[in-house]
Amino acid sequence: LSTKAQAVVDEIESSDVDFLRLQFTDILGTVKNVAIPATQAEKAFAEGIYFDGSSIEGFVRIQESDMRLKPDPDTFAILPWRDGRSARLICDVIDTSTGEPFVGDPRYVLKDALDRAEEMGYTVNVAPEPEFFLFEEDEDGRATTNTNDAGGYFDLAPKDLASDVRRDIIYGLEQMDFEIEASHHEVAEGQHEINFTYDDALTTADNVGTFRTVVRAIAAQHDLHATFMPKPIARINGSGMHTHISLFDEDGENAFHDEDDEFNLSETAHSFLAGVLNHAPAITAISNPTVNSYKRLVPGYEAPVYVAWSDRNRSALIRKPAARVPAASRIEARFPDPSCNAYLAFAALIHAGLDGVEQDLEAPDPVRENIYDFDEGKREEYGIDTLPSNLGEALEALEEDEVIQDALGEHIYEKFHEAKSYEYDEFRVDVSQWELDQYLETF
Ligand code: GLN
Ligand code: MG
Ligand code: MG
Ligand code: MG
Repeated sequence: LSTKAQAVVDEIESSDVDFLRLQFTDILGTVKNVAIPATQAEKAFAEGIYFDGSSIEGFVRIQESDMRLKPDPDTFAILPWRDGRSARLICDVIDTSTGEPFVGDPRYVLKDALDRAEEMGYTVNVAPEPEFFLFEEDEDGRATTNTNDAGGYFDLAPKDLASDVRRDIIYGLEQMDFEIEASHHEVAEGQHEINFTYDDALTTADNVGTFRTVVRAIAAQHDLHATFMPKPIARINGSGMHTHISLFDEDGENAFHDEDDEFNLSETAHSFLAGVLNHAPAITAISNPTVNSYKRLVPGYEAPVYVAWSDRNRSALIRKPAARVPAASRIEARFPDPSCNAYLAFAALIHAGLDGVEQDLEAPDPVRENIYDFDEGKREEYGIDTLPSNLGEALEALEEDEVIQDALGEHIYEKFHEAKSYEYDEFRVDVSQWELDQYLETF
């Protein structure tokens, strides 16, 4: 065993842990688990654990279904809501027929993007801001859309009744080695945000899965349902997952920082930003992958609709946040939402940005006005495109964009496209309550 793996095995042996959950994600971003007794830890590291890949969304057909999980010792963590008796390890998925990483494993897709960055001399740091709602459960323990408080942005208790829940969530996250920077009540009733520190992109993508799991598990202990659905309630803010990105060079310096630039952004940062803007319509299919995602991307709710960047306003797709120190110079992609598969979304953003860097693209001028107020003529004058307005349009943009298809790789692109086209068609043929309310008695 590697020294790291041995250290984890030793830690497991000296702890109360009885069960190990080996985790990975399917292409839709759902965390999957295989539980093994803690006594099998050494074997899991030495040989991996075999499982049937045919039952996992977007993996493989039945006739080619043997997969192996290879636990990553860096990801060992004891689950706080299981009395210290369960721990998790995030795994890479290996194709047993070749012994190589499985091309359908989203974690591999992100690693591949990071390899490209490394070849260009960069490491990638990412910090996400996943927002979520806390809803009451009904008598049967099912989720409702009744918020458990009527607080608003940065409100304090007693209006912010959820602060106890949020505190417990933070304790849970800290026990799983998250460094929490801040937490606050978000703009909408029942909506919250907890910020954790940036890390390398792979660790951060792992963290997003863990974050969602911890938030939901601890909310459930308070008889609340936490949801990362992008727009659970019409006509109020939805939940985004703003994604802050920067590239660091081989000396550990922030390659996005330039003291002399008006925005403190380097040429590399400008080109990266231009690459993301160029590919934004196709990226949305990955970063905003549900029918519901597009109910959030409408004017008026602090979510972006137009393809532009800004150093000031929050209606833009990409914002340049104020940075107190050079290491903090970064760009904030404001379009992703927390229903995405973070591995795939980060991979798509990184490839799009690196493509811009490779081609030395120049970023357009920032837009400082509120773009929600622009009419079509003014948008044309500024050369501002619009994001896809539904999942179908996003998939069409993805069909046209080879850079983003390549980011996913052929296997995931095809499986993803198939699953999402089906989802969109199901929605398209459905008749909604809104339509019944509008038309049933009118016609
Ligand atoms: N909830 C908003 C969104 O959908 C963001 C609000 C904020 O963080 N200021 O992106
Ligand atoms: Mg925030
Ligand atoms: Mg927020
Ligand atoms: Mg933000």
